[in-house]
Amino acid sequence: MFESAAQVGLESQDGPLTLDRFGAESARIGREVADRYHRYRIETEEVDDAQPLPHRFLVKVGKVGLAKFIAKEMLMYFGQFDVILSRPCTYGVFSGPVGGFAPRPKLCVGCLRCCVQHPDFVKVLPNPDLLALGDSYTTHGHITAIDEEARKGMVPVRGQGYRGRFGGPGFDGMLTDMSEIVRPSRDGIHGRELIGTSVDVGSKPMHLSFDSSGNLSGSTPEMFTIQVPFVFDLPPGNLGSTGLVKVVDTTSRRIDTLACLDAHTVVRLRMDAPHIVPVLDTAEAAHASEFPAARLVELDGWDADAFEAANEATDAMVGVRLHFEEGWQERLNAAVDAGAKVIHLLADLHARGTDGTFVSELFKEAHMMLIEQGRRDTVTLFGGGGIVGADHVPKAIISGLDAVALDLAVLFALQGRSHGSLEKRDRVSGTLPRMLDHGWAEQRLANLCGSWRDQLLEILGAMGIREVRRLRGEFGRSMIVKHLEDEAFEGIAGYTGGGA
Ligand code: SF4
Repeated sequence: MFESAAQVGLESQDGPLTLDRFGAESARIGREVADRYHRYRIETEEVDDAQPLPHRFLVKVGKVGLAKFIAKEMLMYFGQFDVILSRPCTYGVFSGPVGGFAPRPKLCVGCLRCCVQHPDFVKVLPNPDLLALGDSYTTHGHITAIDEEARKGMVPVRGQGYRGRFGGPGFDGMLTDMSEIVRPSRDGIHGRELIGTSVDVGSKPMHLSFDSSGNLSGSTPEMFTIQVPFVFDLPPGNLGSTGLVKVVDTTSRRIDTLACLDAHTVVRLRMDAPHIVPVLDTAEAAHASEFPAARLVELDGWDADAFEAANEATDAMVGVRLHFEEGWQERLNAAVDAGAKVIHLLADLHARGTDGTFVSELFKEAHMMLIEQGRRDTVTLFGGGGIVGADHVPKAIISGLDAVALDLAVLFALQGRSHGSLEKRDRVSGTLPRMLDHGWAEQRLANLCGSWRDQLLEILGAMGIREVRRLRGEFGRSMIVKHLEDEAFEGIAGYTGGGA
């Protein structure tokens, strides 16, 4: 038994430690370590609308019908003004100063009680202005969800439960396996335990090598960590305005992720920083030297000479952006052979390659190709195109990505409006709210990231997975609706094939 800590060589500034003082000292150090510990979270805060979306419903009340109804009630309930003035809507749509004669449709939630009670003079219809937002892939439903997530920073909760289809095109054709409810990981959602959302960017050797003296030899990990499995991608089309770029810059720094920005813009706005990924044209690869603070620079396309020139010019990692165009597999292999540690895969904004293949299949192909070659961990795969819902993030990671790249979601988080095509990156056109306030916009984008991260935690918790790194390529934790339907109905007369 120790009589004093000095017997085991422990001393403090005040001389040898007694057992009591040893206990106190160790508690103090423990407390200091605990106080220094910072659990990652994204600070969210509800913000006002700057340019609200059109309201969901149009409420049409026939004035003659309403007047007749009130007259009838006055005769029937003479003097009982609380009855005469009561209206069927508990949401206040008919509660304005002039009641139902000037309804307030922005309060309508579409419960249809008024239509049921007064079908002769009340109609509630979907608002065509809202339906016109977005396009066939990025629908008004996605835009509305992003808007709400960016306003509140919370996981959207619908009291009526999920009202959509089970299954559908694109990412809706993939279901995630939530059957394995594991309590410790559920605790992670509420902050009692940790579910990690950080991912490593760069390269890890597939195995470690040691020399005869037991020292590490051969390649060692070359990577850095970001706290969320999503990065901000190069703003498509004409979205790369100075205002938006500055918001992406400060938000990516705040939440500890990366922002891919055009290299010229980075130089013009003097944004060189560790969280900024300058994207260079292959013809300008040697200019990679102009970003001494960057941890990663990307070349737009594969060119062996440009890759070599960029590597000579900078100490940062050099990543390669590859579009899913014919021959992308060969280009990916060539880039990895040459030492690229980050490959940024790009589909169009409808999440399809040029041959029409959906992006989850393409991500899976890239992931499996690297696994079969025995070098998956030597490369980080980013992927973008069509990621416009919180569920798309885990589904893309299940398909084989390390992290996803966000593009259009940024525009809609800032209550911007798109004009025209949302399919081809170079044709995207959009406008942000006038007089964009930087603090407001940064908080909205941080809110969106917080909401999407919380939804990712929900999925990881429900799957019993403690960190998002382990979700990568976990195809077994997903179910493809088409496969399920084939399994259930194949061979039954009239079944023409699964999928929506
Ligand atoms: S649908 Fe429901 S919320 Fe909308 S006006 Fe009618 S009663 Fe009110």
